[in-house]
Amino acid sequence: AATAATQWTRSTCVYCGVGCQMDVGSRDGKVVAVRPAEHPVNHGHLCVKGRYAYEYNHAPDRVTTPMLREGDGWRAASWDEALDHTAATLLRIRDQHGADAIGVLGSARATNEENYLAQKFARMVIGTNNVDCCARVCHTPSAKALKTMLGTGAATNAFNDIEQTRCFLLCGCNPTENHPIVGARIKQAVLKGAALIVVDPRRTELAEYAQLHLAVRPGANVLLFNAMAATIIEEGLVDADFVAQRVDGLDEFAAFARAYAPEAVSAQCGVDAADIRAAARLYAGSAPAMCFHGLGMTEHTQGTEGVMTLINLALLTGNLGRAGSGINPLRGQNNVQGSAQMGCEPATLTGSQPIAQARAVFESTWGGALPTTQGLDLMQMLDGAAAGQVKALWAFGYDIYMSMANQHASAQALGQLDCVIVQDLFLNETARAFGTVFFPAASVFERDGTFMNSDRRVQRVRAAVPPPGDARPDWWIIQQLARRMGHAQGFSFDGPQAIWDEVRAVWPAGSGLSYRRLEAESLHWPCPQRDDNAHPGTPVLHGASFAGATRARLAQIPFVATPEQCDPDYPFALVTGRGLYHFNAGTMTYRGANAQLQASDVLDMAAADATRLGLADGMRVRVRSRYGEVELPLRISPRVKPGELFTTFHRPDLHVNQLTSPHRDRLVHTPEYKVTAVRITPA
Ligand code: SF4
Repeated sequence: AATAATQWTRSTCVYCGVGCQMDVGSRDGKVVAVRPAEHPVNHGHLCVKGRYAYEYNHAPDRVTTPMLREGDGWRAASWDEALDHTAATLLRIRDQHGADAIGVLGSARATNEENYLAQKFARMVIGTNNVDCCARVCHTPSAKALKTMLGTGAATNAFNDIEQTRCFLLCGCNPTENHPIVGARIKQAVLKGAALIVVDPRRTELAEYAQLHLAVRPGANVLLFNAMAATIIEEGLVDADFVAQRVDGLDEFAAFARAYAPEAVSAQCGVDAADIRAAARLYAGSAPAMCFHGLGMTEHTQGTEGVMTLINLALLTGNLGRAGSGINPLRGQNNVQGSAQMGCEPATLTGSQPIAQARAVFESTWGGALPTTQGLDLMQMLDGAAAGQVKALWAFGYDIYMSMANQHASAQALGQLDCVIVQDLFLNETARAFGTVFFPAASVFERDGTFMNSDRRVQRVRAAVPPPGDARPDWWIIQQLARRMGHAQGFSFDGPQAIWDEVRAVWPAGSGLSYRRLEAESLHWPCPQRDDNAHPGTPVLHGASFAGATRARLAQIPFVATPEQCDPDYPFALVTGRGLYHFNAGTMTYRGANAQLQASDVLDMAAADATRLGLADGMRVRVRSRYGEVELPLRISPRVKPGELFTTFHRPDLHVNQLTSPHRDRLVHTPEYKVTAVRITPA
């Protein structure tokens, strides 16, 4: 198919947060091939999703016209009718119930420009801070932990540091499957001599290459990292110079950590004390050491606090502010960093600027007053819907129903809403079950703008083909709705570049990222405007200070067990996650050849458990939690331990999230996808 392309357009992969560059081949207005570009991130490679999973773009069930709910079905509408209807509905709800009865959800599938416009719409057109995005269910804990302790809620280092590190500490992430290009670079670095510690309940592919695999019990991360910190202090492995110059609270922290000696917590962690000590020695003795973490860290009741315990390790050992070190969340979707960074977050404006601090600048730029009420996050919006206080939700590029934990409860909440606006390529599960309005969006191959990948690198996205039918880019749809709601001013941009120039005006750390520069290179923020227009960007944060503060403080995080515990009725701990061939709710990857590579979610179980229960590979089993039940095919897997299970939640007809629990991160409410007590019986 590659030879059939008549045009090639450079763009950015939409899937994971690595942000690989690719050339999109098109012919007669259709995407017919994707090939990797030579670029500092992906070095001429793409993974199986980026390279092959583009067929969804021209899938026969792509929705290309606006639609309005009519009874149990839908009817097609013109843009004028759909927009007028939606504007009138939102205005009526606002008049009757107040602006805070409406919520807006930005999207990791949308560009920075579109997310910026979405939160501006919520705040200026609706008049609410009820704006959030899917970061709430993945890496908001990372952002909160990093911002609290280091002053900036983003990855400290760049992917290009991978080859400079002497030791990787991979925590709750499986880059081989979820960030494959980074996974391959890590593996290459390990084969060339870097040390590798993998902390994961499962024996992931990279664990095979590790000096140490700490198969921590699901939910015990805080115990484990406190124990590593205790070892570092007890065995004199602290970087004394770094701590003296830049870290506060060592003496108090040392007293706190004593209770977490490896021998004291080993049984609860499920990891040998000797291995915890060996990991602490290896990490502390191999500077620069670089930590990557994923949702296995964040999607817990102590998700934010777990990341804080990782930051403690970096502070104790001086692994911050230098190439090859740092604390680096691996973001699951390409622009999840950008959606929150652009202000799709209830308490902060663009650039993660707290509303109270940045209010004057935004009010002057936007020409109006910002709302003063405290916004609801995504989870609180669902709670508000269930309680009858939130009446309308606008979600783009986000299948909430399919991907939200504790699905029966989210269904009950979504079912209470008067108005659910879904903006997507397909009638996703949220639209099917609860949508009242459907706006057909342009895909990543059909729009211009920028993405921001996991390591703060901002890159261009370019339209390779026109949108089909009446599909339109998100920014166009938001503007049209704003104008019908009386806000032509502030929503009359002629395209993404003009929107981005306004972003640069309100976000000092991004002011140097002009389209002119991004045309030629991708840059890491902070990249402030300079007179010579040549700030080089900042691949490594915290070189001399922590976001303006000279010192950071160690965090004392007591371990608090999740309420989701196994018992004789629910004896297995189920971990959910993603696999190599599919992406989140499967909306894109199940509409192409990747569907044949993995046709179904499967339940991974250790051979010893299967034998004990009389189960065989390939059998269908019933998985029951305290919250719901699904049937899955069983796969005997050497990657999971006895007593633990793993599955993905990609297939829309299986709804694996019926199983997951209502428990949430104690600080930012991220659902606990990573621990669910279940029992297994033959189907
Ligand atoms: Fe796309 Fe991530 Fe694969 Fe790169 S590693 S091609 S960004 S899915």
